[in-house]
Amino acid sequence: MLSDFNFNEINLYTKKIGLPLFRGEQIFDAIYSGKSLEEISNIPKALKDIIINDYPKYKIIKKYTSKDGTQKFIIEFADGNIVESVLMKYRYGYTVCVSTQVGCRMGCKFCASTLNGLSRNLSAGEILGQIVLINRDLGGSKKDRKITNVVLMGSGEPLDNYENVIKFLELISSSKGLNISQRNISLSTCGLVDKIYKLAEEKLNITLTVSLHASCDEKRKKIMPIANQYSISEIMEACKFYYQKTGRKIYFEYTLIKDVNDSKEDIINLTKFLKGFLFHLNIIPLNEVKERKLEGVSRLFAYHFVDELKKHGLSATVRRTMGEDIEGACGQLRNKMLKYKEE
Ligand code: SAH
Repeated sequence: MLSDFNFNEINLYTKKIGLPLFRGEQIFDAIYSGKSLEEISNIPKALKDIIINDYPKYKIIKKYTSKDGTQKFIIEFADGNIVESVLMKYRYGYTVCVSTQVGCRMGCKFCASTLNGLSRNLSAGEILGQIVLINRDLGGSKKDRKITNVVLMGSGEPLDNYENVIKFLELISSSKGLNISQRNISLSTCGLVDKIYKLAEEKLNITLTVSLHASCDEKRKKIMPIANQYSISEIMEACKFYYQKTGRKIYFEYTLIKDVNDSKEDIINLTKFLKGFLFHLNIIPLNEVKERKLEGVSRLFAYHFVDELKKHGLSATVRRTMGEDIEGACGQLRNKMLKYKEE
């Protein structure tokens, strides 16, 4: 698919089919402006017929708007698979939360994205597609970018789709493309330790966010199957390595689940292994997922939890919850394909 290609690769493609150089630029421009093939006005029909099988065919099939202004987009790919992407408006601009896989195979007990397992990985161009389509929906184009920040926190485990995600990061931050600064991109992982080491070597300027959600391995194993593979201390070692290599502060996510990870003892345990390096803890009250029996905590409780963490010298804040009423908040994204097609 042409959206998997960087600027040079597109030019090689057009050269190969015998087109003049400016055609490559036009196609590249159209892809990054989120245009469908029909919408391109400066390319003749005969040429469209030649590239039709390679030109991306993703599209927005539905859009939900939350009370707080957050929007959730249902995006469909050429093979009929769908993912959800979320647009959040902040004071400093627009953030898009992209999905990296259709479904997920990590099996976290509190998350909706993994309920039906993994259907397939998204290609680099399909991850990019979510951003160019939403940018266009906002009235933007390649030259007029409305989106300032990107978070890889939608459905899927980004480091379980490593090569495509790395290629996507190259595409999205390229000065030839949408030119989004790597400093404005966050990648969230449930903690695939081997891949964190690999990512550190890529020397990117992105922010690494790790889903911790527990203060000891026993508790983590109960809610996150990946904890059977890697211990918290192994994750911490990998994070320190990432920090040494990149100089980027590490963010940890800690979703508060009632009677699971919200005790005083959890705070003490967290203090033990978090002290001593540059990090920040994002505390998120669990968002409801109908199929899961786990219960969340009140925001007030979360604020108290953060106060306690701070008393112990940890850097922590409660993450704002956005889009919960449209099932667009953390952990609520899914690929209920049939549902959207029937509505
Ligand atoms: N697979 C990646 C990114 C996707 S989820 C990861 O695990 O980090 C983005 C964040 O939302 C993760 O921290 C995830 O653990 C969290 N999350 C999942 N389900 C949630 C829920 N029901 N309520 C609050 N946060 C949740």
